[in-house]
Parts: sequence; C-alpha cells; structure tokens
Amino acid sequence: MIEIKEYFRPKSVEEAYDKLISTEGAEIIGSGAFIRLSSRKINLAIDLQDAGINYVKKEGNEIKIGGATPLGDVERNEIIKKAFDGKLLEVFQLIWSVQLRNTATIGGTIFPKLGFSDLITVLLALNTDVVLYENGRMPLEVFLEEKIRKDVLTEIIIKDEDRKLSFQNMRNSFYDFSMLNAAVSYDKKDDFRIAIGARPGVAKLAKKAMNYLKENKNIEEASKIAAEEFEYGSNIKCSKEYREAIAPILVKRGLEEVLK
Ligand SMILES: Cc1cc2nc3c(=O)[nH]c(=O)nc-3n(C[C@H](O)[C@H](O)[C@H](O)COP(=O)(O)OP(=O)(O)OC[C@H]3O[C@@H](n4cnc5c(N)ncnc54)[C@H](O)[C@@H]3O)c2cc1C
Repeated sequence: MIEIKEYFRPKSVEEAYDKLISTEGAEIIGSGAFIRLSSRKINLAIDLQDAGINYVKKEGNEIKIGGATPLGDVERNEIIKKAFDGKLLEVFQLIWSVQLRNTATIGGTIFPKLGFSDLITVLLALNTDVVLYENGRMPLEVFLEEKIRKDVLTEIIIKDEDRKLSFQNMRNSFYDFSMLNAAVSYDKKDDFRIAIGARPGVAKLAKKAMNYLKENKNIEEASKIAAEEFEYGSNIKCSKEYREAIAPILVKRGLEEVLK
C-alpha cells in the first residue's frame, strides 16, 4: 500500500517544482489513481490542484491543456468535442469510467509514460508537444525517449490541424486495458502519422511506414511495415504472438478509416 507522510498544495508550478527538487522523497500527484496502486513511500505528496494548470484553451491553431486538468474536464470541453471531427473525444470516453476520468489528470497520464495508455498513442499520432517546467517544450515523441525523472508537466499542446484521425484498440472487455492500440492521422497532404502502443511498451511512431506512405498508397504493405518496426512482448493481458498478429490489422483499419 502507498504511504504518504506529508501533503502539500502549492499555489504555483514554481512552488511545486521547488519543493519537488528540494525535498527528498517528494512526488507530484495528479489524482493519485495510478500511484496509489504502488507501494511507494512518499515523504511529501505535491498536489497540483491549486497550481493554476487546470484548463483547456485554444490559442491560434494550438489546443492547450493544463497538466492538472482531469480527463473528464477535457472530455466535456467544447474545443475537444469539435477537434478532429470528434475522434479525439471518443478516445477520452474509452478510458475506463466517468468516475476515473473525473479525477485522473493529463500530467498523471503523460509524465509516467504508461505503456498501456490509449491517450499517449492518440496524442503521438497528432502533432503534440509536452511542456515541462524545467525542461521546457518538446515534441511528445522526444519526451517519451528522454529520461526525465523530476519535473512538472505543466501543459500539452496539440496542433489543431485539418487531420483525419482514427484510433483502434483491442481489449478483452470495455473495463480493461488495451492489449494493443494504434492511432493514425492524415492531413490530406500525404503526411501520415502512425503510432502503436501497449506493445506492451509505451507508444512509438512507426516512422518507416510513415515515410513509405509519402510515395506509396498500398495500405496492406504500409500496415505490415508499421507492425514490423517494433518488438512486442507478452504480459498478463496477452502474448507477444497475439500482439504481432493484430498489429497490422489495427493499423490497416486506422489507415482505411482516415482515407475513407
Ligand atoms: C483502474 C484504472 C484504469 C485505467 N484505464 C485506462 C484506460 O483504459 N486507458 C488509458 O489510457 N488509461 C487508463 N488509466 C490511466 C489513467 O487514465 C491515468 O493515466 C492514471 O490514473 C494516472 O493519472 P493520475 O492523475 O491518477 O496520476 P497519479 O496516479 O497521481 O500519478 C501518476 C504518476 O505521474 C506523476 N505525475 C502526475 N502528474 C504529474 C505532473 N503534472 N507532472 C509530473 N509528474 C506528474 C506522479 O508523480 C506519478 O508518478 C487507468 C488507470 C486506472 C487506475
């Protein structure tokens, strides 16, 4: 069971970050929904609820979502409802339950790079940047490769481009994690983005397939290339072989949907 010694609610991100780096055993908590499943011993839990990073807004062609924003607030926001023909909203609605989404936060979803995450996969297939208090702004794919242990995720920024979006996943039941997921987006100028996640590792972009699609439109072949770019593994959800078998199918369904 998780153990928390002290609890702190900073009034700004600066205050949160200062406490995080100056206190041994300090941890940021989003809603605590995932962290509480661990047996971590936390000396100081830093709760970002009052730090001013709970919002969804649009500036120019960028959708900005604060790091402490609950997924439920994002889902109910009019900007998100309209974005990408409502396809982004559908992914939020897939995440477990209304109760979980009303608490689980954007920061708690992206920062720990959860392998099974549906949201990371779909955000990767869009042009998304992550903003960290100390390490600054960077593309999500760069953040996922970095080894940043202590920082505060203040915001994500999604480019609100004219992209068709498709999210595909396979799970044993609605209330379960994805055994594998894939997201595809297409901007009608031959720029495809394809991400595969829950392999069970965190989502990655299928760059070879994305390049292939710049010159070729053979969907069957592109799906095969995308699926073969990655190593898959077995876990409690399903086997490596099953993931290998369904990966090209999910990508193909995604490509077919965006090209419809
Ligand atoms: C039962 C259950 C079912 C789920 N089902 C799904 C699903 O179907 N699909 C899916 O995609 N996801 C699913 N999730 C994941 C969920 O959407 C959240 O990603 C998860 O709960 C973490 O969010 P949180 O706010 O509770 O983070 P917490 O548990 O509070 O924190 C998680 C980690 O993130 C760090 N952290 C939190 N906020 C920040 C920040 N702003 N900056 C830096 N670090 C931060 C914490 O230090 C901690 O290490 C599920 C989670 C649970 C518990």
